[in-house]
Amino acid sequence: MPTINFGAGPAKMPEDVMRQAQREFVFYGNTGLSVIEMSHRSSHYENINQSSQDTLRRILKVPDNYKILFLQGGGTGMFAAVAMNLMGRTGTADYLVTGSWSAKAAKEAAKYGKVNLVVPKTNKYTEIPPPETWNLDSNASYLYYCANETVHGVEFQYVPESNGVPLVADMSSNFLSRPFDVSKFGVIFAGAQKNVGPSGVTLVIVREDLLGNPLPICPLVFDFTVMAQDNSLHNTPPTFGVYFTGLVFKWIEEKGGVEKMAEWAEAKSSSVYDTIDQSNGFYSCPVNRECRSRMNIPFRIKTEELEQLFLKEAQSKGMIQLKGHRSVGGIRASLYNAVTLDETNTLVQFMKEFMKSHQ
Ligand SMILES: *Cc1c(COP(=O)(O)O)cnc(C)c1O
Repeated sequence: MPTINFGAGPAKMPEDVMRQAQREFVFYGNTGLSVIEMSHRSSHYENINQSSQDTLRRILKVPDNYKILFLQGGGTGMFAAVAMNLMGRTGTADYLVTGSWSAKAAKEAAKYGKVNLVVPKTNKYTEIPPPETWNLDSNASYLYYCANETVHGVEFQYVPESNGVPLVADMSSNFLSRPFDVSKFGVIFAGAQKNVGPSGVTLVIVREDLLGNPLPICPLVFDFTVMAQDNSLHNTPPTFGVYFTGLVFKWIEEKGGVEKMAEWAEAKSSSVYDTIDQSNGFYSCPVNRECRSRMNIPFRIKTEELEQLFLKEAQSKGMIQLKGHRSVGGIRASLYNAVTLDETNTLVQFMKEFMKSHQ
């Protein structure tokens, strides 16, 4: 019985890509070397670095005045890096907190400047307050938000209007799941391990005019200006991760691009949400319809006993990593790009059968 991985991250990767990486692992091309053995100063690695960048630039139509960086430190590293690179302009930044990841980002940024919370504090992250209610500061160095809250399943279905203030987005868990206009952003970042590769590489797309003003305390490895100047080769990059994400970018391109990923995401997530909504309360999703995540679907079952049983039975059918985040409980199904429609249907069929036998 095949395993179906619904984990939130590290998460399922396209099998074709893993097979290719396996074939090429010991000897890459005609280099006689594995990617993990190559000097990052070699022309072989420079080609990999450039090709991964170029493919990403093509599939997202990244404009020429943006740099693509491959860093380390994960999403959490970028919580600090964003503040240290951008806060210098005015010393204050706006944070739109819509879930636990943006809450953590705001807390981290407060070490480096003044953080203004754009919407009132809450613990119940099930909605995005309407833009008319946001308390934006026109003097902010940037406006920060999390495009998809992985734990709470809250996703922006639009790009926030920041009125000329540079917009910063944490896209760790929905990066490359849909097309978007890069030119609306100042900085976009994403840890690879949710939707585009192995943990260890962190993607940053930064508008060039925002470079050049890091706080003096900013470590070199987090300094976007230095990393951009040196084409992500200032120090040893996460070479295997850069190679692997490059293969994932090519896979997306071959499958039909981010437009196709969006089509799949819509089909997969709506089949799960429909099952929840048509269950007469057997299943429930607390998140408002307008901001339900296409990537991470948190839901509850009538009783906690049934939730335990659901997880156990799912596991016995090969469906793993469906347990909700420890902070919210219940069930969470993550449907990243590599999770297929067929696999999602298997989950949906199981949800229907489970409901029938336990109503
Ligand atoms: C997982 C995640 C993070 C944290 O990533 P790390 O690489 O573990 O630091 C940040 N933001 C979002 C939206 C995430 O899903």
